[in-house]
Amino acid sequence: MKPLSGSRPPEHINIVPFVNVDNMMKLVLHVGIQTFLIELSSYIEADFLRWRHFDKSPRLASHSREGVIELMPTSDGQTYGFKYVNGHPKNTQHGLQTVTAFGVLADVGSGYPVLLSEMTILTALRTAATSAVAAKYLAPKGAKTMAIIGNGAQAEFQAIAFGALCNVRTLRLYDVDRQATDKCAKNLAGFGFEIEKCNSAQSAVEGAGIITTVTADKSYATILNDNMVGEGVHINAIGGDCPGKTELHRDILLRSDIFVEYAPQTRIEGEIQQLDKNHPVVELWEVITGAAGGRNNRRQITIFDSVGFATEDFSALRYIRDRLAGTRYFDELDMIADPDEPKDLFGMLLRAQTVS
Ligand code: NAD
Repeated sequence: MKPLSGSRPPEHINIVPFVNVDNMMKLVLHVGIQTFLIELSSYIEADFLRWRHFDKSPRLASHSREGVIELMPTSDGQTYGFKYVNGHPKNTQHGLQTVTAFGVLADVGSGYPVLLSEMTILTALRTAATSAVAAKYLAPKGAKTMAIIGNGAQAEFQAIAFGALCNVRTLRLYDVDRQATDKCAKNLAGFGFEIEKCNSAQSAVEGAGIITTVTADKSYATILNDNMVGEGVHINAIGGDCPGKTELHRDILLRSDIFVEYAPQTRIEGEIQQLDKNHPVVELWEVITGAAGGRNNRRQITIFDSVGFATEDFSALRYIRDRLAGTRYFDELDMIADPDEPKDLFGMLLRAQTVS
């Protein structure tokens, strides 16, 4: 394992830096969770600012009764990236996670991979950082209280990102599983929040300027009813991210301004799958670049209908690649066959037989 240099010499191009789970955790803790989220959010925001540079397409999804497996590719013309991710809400009943992921960056010029990384932890971080970036533009100014409905794997990451980037100070937690709420409150104890554990979604949203819904259920769920959502709030809707899997009552959508990552994908997967396909939405990059307005009055309800888009994973991998430089938080994988003579792949195989 050697420190990653900015550009590797061609003779080592077959060796791919690999960030395993242990090294990802070490890297995050080395940087500091809040600093990591702040730095990551700046990469995500920078890539939204150059939105037009990216190849964009709805992710490729393979659905089953139990969940979904998705591939999320994009490229900025110089670097290509993709993430493999699943979503299986019943997994936790069997001791498995709802969401797991890994991802790759590759050099467009040669087509060779330049980074392979775990992305289960990184997805939680990038989802939270993206939510906080959206909220910076959309949440009511001075909102310091956030309700989090769904206190599973993503919840703490969301809380810390909103604390670090949006100055949220009070959390109101609710989950149908009380143990999940207890776990979440315990994990967040050292992060300076005032934490209230609530007995219902209705009580969690009381007094909250920001409402994060981050539940997992493969159904048209109604986590928030229309009468639970008062004027002026920002809803950070994370859990509805798949056809047939939503969290908000349709009536809330009809009286809100809706912001999405990439409309063609969100119309298939997000809360807006419940609406007419021409219902107006604004893409987040338009707000970030100033091409469209975000929050414009105190009574407006804003919804970030998040499903997760490939550019955010690209930004996250790009950040990891830069952050690894000079550290030892990666291994080197001999992943690409590297014959002495490029056309003699078969000869390389035969020579290996001789050696063994
Ligand atoms: P998880 O299974 O670890 O946690 C989900 C929690 O929701 C569980 O604790 C469960 O008890 C709770 N829950 C289910 N129904 C509820 C209800 N009606 N009211 C209150 N709580 C309820 O899952 P996770 O990894 O935290 O992911 C949460 C959701 O976020 C999933 O649906 C996942 O697909 C989605 N997700 C979205 C993005 C994105 O970019 N938008 C990224 C990652 C995950």
